[in-house]
Amino acid sequence: MTGRMTLAQELEQAHRNGVGAGIAGLQDPALGARRLSGRAVPVLAEAAVSSATPFLRAPLLGRISAALLLHTASDGWCSTCVVSVPCPTVQALR
Ligand SMILES: [Zn+2]
Repeated sequence: MTGRMTLAQELEQAHRNGVGAGIAGLQDPALGARRLSGRAVPVLAEAAVSSATPFLRAPLLGRISAALLLHTASDGWCSTCVVSVPCPTVQALR
């Protein structure tokens, strides 16, 4: 892959990875008699990941928001890094 993925692309990829892990987990032989199979498995995995994602993202988004508040622009300069805006921290977080 060339270039850097956007945050939205990374989140979408993480969602697909989560669904894939969910599909594998629901079919895990270690579940024994509770192991699932069939066409419902991807649907159940998608539903589970979709339901859980906001709760998993919330702490991360909260910390990113708090970090961005520490790097606000003042007269064209980052108030924390004292470099021209956007500072490297803001560039990495957006
Ligand atoms: Zn900064």
